[in-house]
Amino acid sequence: MYQKGRAWIELNLNNLTYNVRQFQKLLPASCTLMPAVKANAYGHGAPIIARALENMGICDFCVASVGEGIELRDAGITGQILILGYTSPHQFPELSRYRLTQTLVDYEYARALHQSGLSLDVHVGIDTGMHRLGERSENIETLRKIWQFQNLNITGVFSHLCTADGATESDRAFARKQIASFDASVAALKAHGCSGFKTHMQGSYGVLNYPGLRYDFARVGIALYGAYCAPTDETEADLPLRPVLSLKSRIECVKELHPGESIGYGLTFTAAREMQTAAVSIGYADGVPRALSNRGHVLVNGRKAPIIGRICMDQLLIDVSGAPHVMPGDEVVLIGKSGRNQIAASELADRTDTIANEILSRLGNRLERIATAL
Ligand SMILES: *Cc1c(COP(=O)(O)O)cnc(C)c1O
Repeated sequence: MYQKGRAWIELNLNNLTYNVRQFQKLLPASCTLMPAVKANAYGHGAPIIARALENMGICDFCVASVGEGIELRDAGITGQILILGYTSPHQFPELSRYRLTQTLVDYEYARALHQSGLSLDVHVGIDTGMHRLGERSENIETLRKIWQFQNLNITGVFSHLCTADGATESDRAFARKQIASFDASVAALKAHGCSGFKTHMQGSYGVLNYPGLRYDFARVGIALYGAYCAPTDETEADLPLRPVLSLKSRIECVKELHPGESIGYGLTFTAAREMQTAAVSIGYADGVPRALSNRGHVLVNGRKAPIIGRICMDQLLIDVSGAPHVMPGDEVVLIGKSGRNQIAASELADRTDTIANEILSRLGNRLERIATAL
């Protein structure tokens, strides 16, 4: 394949290692990282990232779907792969064939999985207040009955915090309430003889804001990639994380734009003065939000170049008047460093009213993923 062609992702695996070590230092020794590598490892490329993590001694992973689990098996991942969400009954045989661990989204789902006759590893989801998945934490009797399903080997019990990233007192109070509910359910189950399972509850912000919790696994996603959801996020642990991903493209064509002339679909930008513009070979089909049209900037040869006009499916237009001597083929940085300037995924997110997780996880399949360090 033609490396670093029209648009690509560079992965700094040294930074991934660095972030993993930061989390391992922060977590209690008894807690193991179980990285979230769903959505193609938040756009980074699941096979490359999972293999790199496995080389660092990590054996447990979370994904969202059977297909993502199979992709990891095909990439040679041999450890535990937990599917965090729903698997349709017609795919139950794949769970067994690829040794995937399935989340029990509630009691009825557990029964259906048991009745498939397949012998499977499962984790029980407990709803402590997010009300997305899981059997309610107070339904101890119903939860206990899941242990009667002989075909299900229950290796884990987990819940999920829904205000862990919040800094307000009510966010914190809610998180503490969820933690207390989860602990109470786990204790009640153990008191009833249900045992031999691991526990987990924290994602990135669960660890960063509640680092003292003592569960067996931490399902860390976004922060392991060295990104924060929002540029203003501050956390209790305040780890010095380093971004793993850079998003880059190339200048295709440089032009003069005269005063009064407009540019791009719908002619939404008009030159007020003599300008130099350039077309860049990346667009919204690659995951650059169309909402960045006429907003924000990219970096060219270390200088900021504003995005002008509407972002197209495969291309976008920039003002390079402030970045002299721009030539076709020059590198354009959309996320990452160029000279002294840097753009974080969370900044693109902030400008388009979303979080870095969405920006990264939507980076497209046309982008080559290239590891820059090992
Ligand atoms: C995606 C996901 C995670 C990882 O979340 P981050 O905030 O990216 O660390 C953890 N747990 C569950 C249930 C998830 O769906």
